Amino acid sequence: MSSDERRHALATLAIHAGTERFDGAVVTPIFQSSTYASAGVTEYHQLKYIRLSTSPNHRVLHARLAALECGEDALVTASGMAAITTTVLSVLQAGSRLLAEIGCYGGTDSFFRHELPRLGIEVDFFDATTDPASWPLQPNTRAIYVESISNPLLRVIPLETVVSFARGHGLVSMVDNTFATPLEMRPLELGIDLVLHSATKYLNGHSDIVAGAVVGSAKRILAIRKRLNHLGGSLDPHACYLLERGLKTLPLRFRQQSASAAVVADWLRERVEVVHYPGIGGVIAFELDDADAMLARLKLFLVAPSLGGVESLAVRPAASTALEMTPKEMEAAGINQHLVRLSIGCEDIGDLLADLAQAWPSL
Ligand SMILES: *Cc1c(COP(=O)(O)O)cnc(C)c1O
Repeated sequence: MSSDERRHALATLAIHAGTERFDGAVVTPIFQSSTYASAGVTEYHQLKYIRLSTSPNHRVLHARLAALECGEDALVTASGMAAITTTVLSVLQAGSRLLAEIGCYGGTDSFFRHELPRLGIEVDFFDATTDPASWPLQPNTRAIYVESISNPLLRVIPLETVVSFARGHGLVSMVDNTFATPLEMRPLELGIDLVLHSATKYLNGHSDIVAGAVVGSAKRILAIRKRLNHLGGSLDPHACYLLERGLKTLPLRFRQQSASAAVVADWLRERVEVVHYPGIGGVIAFELDDADAMLARLKLFLVAPSLGGVESLAVRPAASTALEMTPKEMEAAGINQHLVRLSIGCEDIGDLLADLAQAWPSL
């Protein structure tokens, strides 16, 4: 990052950080070339080849994301899960243990429960909102993993506590910042080691690609990049182009979505007892009897998994993202059959409230 860029605010960085003017082009062109003439390279990871994440589209995007999350370097991946799995497998090896927040995103939770043990990595689950003295630390625990705003109950995790615990016990700290985005939280500034994203969600924001990202120190990102080169979950240049385009409007979109979400949360609080909304971001969860009937009546909100796009979505987690969990695991994560999650898009707030009102059960 140039010193000029360091002084810019996020809204400016989202549009300009890392930009290279290819032939003066205002927008980064799509470099649809799998390989490049690359004489003089001395290390494998420096070869220019799409799987090695070294195309110009990757380079610009990495610089942009590093600037937004205040990291030294970044790496984009073929999905959020590719970022999470590659990063965790880079940080941990057989014989070590992971401390993981209970109730993480369903795919992450399944990876921790069902894949890591097969590779000799055990996982201890903990509640990141409790006293750290009660967290189940073992002599071979090497890393800690949390989501900055938990999914789907939207609890804000005290990251300063996670940082001091990790530092005190020599753990690598990882935070999935998908729900908060760098507009609400910049975990690296607080001392977290690695920040992860499902870029499918707010960072891209248009529900048209699946992508992931990890941001951190240059040294850690290089180690993860070398592992990604072997595991193969790299992002295609066309998806890089779409993600770069989406990022430019992240601050605009997120501000609108957060403002509308606050209004919807107030509307819901007048009608149901349980509303989960931390006062930031664009996702809300609430409990409603016979939620499926209400969801079926929605016209503007689409009933679909995912979040963070300009289109408003509604979903019942127990019937979608948590489908891989057992009833017991769901209960531990606080997910019941009545829970509904809304992802507020960029439509007019009056139209969104009218849609909820026409779908609402009559008393
Ligand atoms: C969606 C999501 C993921 C997984 O991302 P994909 O892009 O679908 O692979 C991980 N973490 C959180 C918090 C998510 O919402």
